[in-house]
Amino acid sequence: MPEHVDIAIVGAGFGGLGMAIRLKQAAPDTSFVVLERAPEVGGTWYANTYPGCQCDVPSNLYSFSFAPKHDWTHSYPEQPQILEYLKHCVTRFGIEDRIRLNTEMQEASYDADARLWRITTSSGSLTARVLIAAPGLLSEPATPRIPGLEDFTGTLFHSARWNHDHDLSGERVAMFGTGATAVQIAPRIQPRVKRLTVFQRTPPWVLPHPDREITARQKRVFARAPLLQKLSRAAIYTMREGYVLGFVLQPRILRLPETVAKMHMRRQVKDPAMREKLTPGYAIGCKRILLSEEWYPAITAPNAELVTDPVERIEAGAIVTRDGRRREVDTIILATGFSPTDPPIARRIANGEGETLSQAWGGSPQAYRGTTVAGFPNLFLLYGPNLNLGHSSIVYMLESQIRYVMEALTAMRERGAAELEVTRDAQRRWNEWVQERMAGTVWDTGGCSSWYLDSNGRNSVNWPDFTFKFRRVSTFDPSDHRLAPAS
Ligand code: NAP
Repeated sequence: MPEHVDIAIVGAGFGGLGMAIRLKQAAPDTSFVVLERAPEVGGTWYANTYPGCQCDVPSNLYSFSFAPKHDWTHSYPEQPQILEYLKHCVTRFGIEDRIRLNTEMQEASYDADARLWRITTSSGSLTARVLIAAPGLLSEPATPRIPGLEDFTGTLFHSARWNHDHDLSGERVAMFGTGATAVQIAPRIQPRVKRLTVFQRTPPWVLPHPDREITARQKRVFARAPLLQKLSRAAIYTMREGYVLGFVLQPRILRLPETVAKMHMRRQVKDPAMREKLTPGYAIGCKRILLSEEWYPAITAPNAELVTDPVERIEAGAIVTRDGRRREVDTIILATGFSPTDPPIARRIANGEGETLSQAWGGSPQAYRGTTVAGFPNLFLLYGPNLNLGHSSIVYMLESQIRYVMEALTAMRERGAAELEVTRDAQRRWNEWVQERMAGTVWDTGGCSSWYLDSNGRNSVNWPDFTFKFRRVSTFDPSDHRLAPAS
């Protein structure tokens, strides 16, 4: 562990690695280190190894623009390949020696006199002029508060901490949750368990999955003609931006995918009573739209049961629902998501006054362009507030943010500044604009509750516009920042 670096990056997922690669390319003299708590790089794609884990953004779009991969095996990438891709990027761009694995950032506090960050990690301490936090939005598993959960004596694990040592074959398995993760897990485990009981609180909207295998010929074409692959990526990108019209501008447009989802369900679920249980009571898009050919067949299989009665309590070996029914189970899988609006890292980063990010946010994360926070000099957040997408690749947003960070770092260097901070006024204007845009979106008006909304009921997660608009504004505007010279 170096004693001091110019830049400390926290997290070795898409954000942290993309930042490290750009720094190495554009500012080779800058000293920097990437702190990663896991034993490997990959971020969410290292942590999530549950059966069926796959990205619902097409392969050709879900990669760095500067490092296309021409040999994806499927049109939607599976977790092992994404992880392999990220590891490949580390070696291809020669940043291995900058990464400290098994190194968890425990605390970072800004020393306003020395104008640097004092960082404590599980492997020692260091100081850094600039701190770039790239912890990922969906990295902290959320455990539901269900009475008796701690008394359960069977096997229990969260989908993001899959227990690969435990064999589910022949077991009575319960799964909580019916989100993006659950619809991928159920079809993989249902054929081998004795009984699969899915506890549904809110049904999701599910569209047919257009995933297909990529032929050897297509891979060869992409390898030989990179321009064609770029065109294909641009076409996918453009088509997916179309969703913004429905999500943000005119939610009525979403009636079309809603009809497709209803037809998909009618084709796969023959029992009208079951269809009723599975039909959402909110507009499509309000929660993340799911893609699956296998979800409905899995939960309507003879050894599966969909329970919609609320869970009352959990006992040593059983789950009891409000109607009094007691179901004995061997294993409980929590596919209950994450806590993006209350990220633990926000409690670990404190400014010169000792105020943590979490305290400054008061339950509603806010930043300027999702990246810088007033009152927290020399801090950049990757995948910060209001940058999540329901339709396209977060890698595109991260690359936009990285551009802003690089421009800000260049401005600091050129002006000999020791400190850079966004102004409160600029942050306020930005967030007012974001919330104005949010007002008519399907996330706010679609009639659902989702993890996009924070504890104050404010959507502090999603980006309410086209992604190219974010790219356009992701630049360094000197008038929105305070630059203080080295004293
Ligand atoms: P999620 O979308 O937050 O879903 C969590 C599920 O657990 C929901 O069905 C929720 O019900 C349920 N739940 C939460 N607390 C509960 C409780 N106390 N009792 C009963 N049920 C409870 O989480 P996720 O499925 O892990 O997905 C999170 C995000 O990760 C996705 O939206 C997506 O952005 C990303 N993801 C992406 C992919 C992909 O294909 N790219 C795959 C997996 C995950 P309610 O709906 O009623 O809250």
